[in-house]
Amino acid sequence: MGAFNVLIAEVLCPDCTKKHDGRIQFKFGNTWQLIYQVGDIIKWGGNDIGNSDLKKVKVYGIIESGLCPYCNNCNIVDEYDILIKDTAGARCSPHPEYSRLCGWEW
Ligand SMILES: [Zn+2]
Repeated sequence: MGAFNVLIAEVLCPDCTKKHDGRIQFKFGNTWQLIYQVGDIIKWGGNDIGNSDLKKVKVYGIIESGLCPYCNNCNIVDEYDILIKDTAGARCSPHPEYSRLCGWEW
């Protein structure tokens, strides 16, 4: 099965330092091409991957395109950690010192 979900989250271009909304694929919850915005609540009940009882999980994510829409370089980080707390969230912000970290906070 190649099913996955997509998180729309801000990503940073290391070349021009502009940010844009990237599409980060991940597998957690009901995994069926669902589109999540930062802060959305994870849906369950279907092609479930993972455990909804977990209070805090780190999920591997990979970006669909490393191409920057501003400078057309292709150096956007392609792998991300998505933090999911209590299977729900309020916002996502890249870690100040580690731009690959994308956290969903309760
Ligand atoms: Zn750029």
